[in-house]
Amino acid sequence: MDVQALTDAKPVGGAGDAAQPAFLDRLLEAGLLIESGVPGLYGRSAVFESIADGLNAAVTRIGADQHAEVLRFPPAMGQRDFETSEYLKSFPQLAGTVHSFCGDDRGHHRLLARLEDKQDWTDQQEPTGVVLTPAACYPVYPVIARRGPLPADGKVVDVLSYCYRHEPSLEPTRMQLFRMREYVCLGTPEQIVAFRNKWMERGQALGRALQLPVELDIANDPFFGRGGKIVADSQREQKLKFELLIPVNDGAGPTACMSFNYHMDHFGELWHIALPDGGVAHTGCVGFGIERLTLALLRHHGLDLSRWPQPVRETLGGV
Ligand code: 5GP
Ligand code: ZN
Repeated sequence: MDVQALTDAKPVGGAGDAAQPAFLDRLLEAGLLIESGVPGLYGRSAVFESIADGLNAAVTRIGADQHAEVLRFPPAMGQRDFETSEYLKSFPQLAGTVHSFCGDDRGHHRLLARLEDKQDWTDQQEPTGVVLTPAACYPVYPVIARRGPLPADGKVVDVLSYCYRHEPSLEPTRMQLFRMREYVCLGTPEQIVAFRNKWMERGQALGRALQLPVELDIANDPFFGRGGKIVADSQREQKLKFELLIPVNDGAGPTACMSFNYHMDHFGELWHIALPDGGVAHTGCVGFGIERLTLALLRHHGLDLSRWPQPVRETLGGV
């Protein structure tokens, strides 16, 4: 298996605590995360979920003035919409597709024989037309596009979804399935820029309220291949994506726990999202990594919630 980031996931202690077990081991021992045998795929305890719920509620409270339409999708989307998104151009290495057995009795026997012989049986599966959601906002664009031109003051949608990315890792902050909470804005360039600026301020303020050491920086996405470097350079030059970084992992650089994205007219063009005057809509989104923020809180305030600073617990609705 291609286990990424093995080298930067060495169980070295965090700054100055060489005697501490690795952060992931501590989370597993405390039962906050539950091992599945697959790197990056974990169960969550009630305590972990109470922090996640508190974060989500805090984001809802901060975003109340957005009058966002709440939409919830299962963590998968249709293959057609996935193709339209052009995700495969940028991140083919991260995408996950759902396959199922679609054969007859003879095929079933073949499948069971493979299992019995401990041989690979997955080539007996076929694509289902269902693709795992790579980012919570992806299912939103085709839905809004189908409704026709946007209202004059634009539109904000509130989404939350488990997302899949094929990047098995021993760093607890790099999961294969994790939740992303987003506000997605569709409208004119001015509306999107104002939305993103507002949320960059709010994201930092939330980090401070949670007493976390936050730092805002221009992002570096892992665009695939040689061409990907050019796209990544252009994304940086145009300052299309900012991230809120927080140190979480042992002996590694800080982790992106929120992102603030301006897609320009990329999704508007792909899905024909129209402004009231017929022009192409611009889009942007702010994403909160629910697991990463939960892990950041556990890292900085400890695994015993009763000892967390009172204002932090209050910000999370009294965890
Ligand atoms: P982006 O689409 O910007 O890569 O991801 C949006 C947010 O989702 C990130 O800022 C981060 O908080 C979260 N995220 C991205 N990748 C991972 C991951 O591998 N594991 C976890 N737990 N969260 C992630
Ligand atoms: Zn998004």
